[in-house]
Amino acid sequence: MFDLVIVASGKSSRMGSINKIFFKIGAECVLFRTVSAFITHSKINSIIIVGNISETKSALSGLVQSKLHYVNGGLTRCESVESGLKLVTSEYVLVHDGARPFINLDLINRIIACVEKKGSAIPVIPIVDSVSEINSAGELIDTTTHSRLMSIQTPQGFITNELKMAFNLRDNIIYPDESSLYKKTLGKSPFSIEGDANNIKLTTPADLFGLNSLVGIGYDSHLLIPNRKLVLGGIEIASEMGTLAHSDGDALIHALIDALLSAMGSSDIGSHFPNTSSEFKDADSSILLSNVMEWLLEKHLSVSNISMVVILDKPKLSDYIPLMKIKISNILKVNQENIGISAKTSENAKPNIVEAFAAVKLL
Ligand code: MG
Repeated sequence: MFDLVIVASGKSSRMGSINKIFFKIGAECVLFRTVSAFITHSKINSIIIVGNISETKSALSGLVQSKLHYVNGGLTRCESVESGLKLVTSEYVLVHDGARPFINLDLINRIIACVEKKGSAIPVIPIVDSVSEINSAGELIDTTTHSRLMSIQTPQGFITNELKMAFNLRDNIIYPDESSLYKKTLGKSPFSIEGDANNIKLTTPADLFGLNSLVGIGYDSHLLIPNRKLVLGGIEIASEMGTLAHSDGDALIHALIDALLSAMGSSDIGSHFPNTSSEFKDADSSILLSNVMEWLLEKHLSVSNISMVVILDKPKLSDYIPLMKIKISNILKVNQENIGISAKTSENAKPNIVEAFAAVKLL
């Protein structure tokens, strides 16, 4: 059987003001997700959480507590793992970073099987970037050509008595992980197995980018009639027919507004800008889009990318699309390369209608 030590005492120094262990991904914090991945495993006896006891306990209060034990962390990773190891009584031990919430069952099972068979297991993945040494003046000294350089992950598994012995023999050197301490003090090489590229350690704010993205879709259509303007994507299009609408009838902007409101969990365009209100008679839909942008900013949201489709038989829209992108880019503060607009025709199936679809991703 195994005991598991989870290191949750890092100072998150590379995260700015964010404590990554308690950062919420959806409804659950990072530490909650990490512990959840192991808690029902039949080969894991007890889970020792090393970190601020009251904070970690409170973060994990939604989990069944029977396997969980809490201990305060030390100043360094070594001290923290050592505190956790004192509570370990099973034959084997796993050590895992609390900030690796994307650990999956397959990797846990492969680590456990390797430890049972060979006495140790370290997950590794090839380094994809080239690796160079830079001197104190910022100059590149040497680039390694070693194809066997690997990035080391957790969980790392050992025979408990061996890891405890490695810690007893340790000097004052700060080891980055347990495998390096094990190798240095015992002179034994731990076994490596293939890690998992998704099993990342959340380290910098960039690692959190995109974890809580919101997506939304929207749709709109308007009837085309003579003697009305045709406005799409905030741009007036030269056309014999225009849209029948209370506002300017910009179906593309309306679909976009609905996608944004939907991603925010808000009610649709009609509830915010009713077509029965004289305020919005012939309204410039670009101004309505600016209003929605202000609501996004109030919620600390920004638009990551936009994908739209407009369906219109004539005229051809290709010349207008770059102008639409500029307009929308300026209003929503999103790069033009993150705005996609495709123009289709209905092949005369719907000659008197303009339709638009929009999908957005918010961060
Ligand atoms: Mg509309």
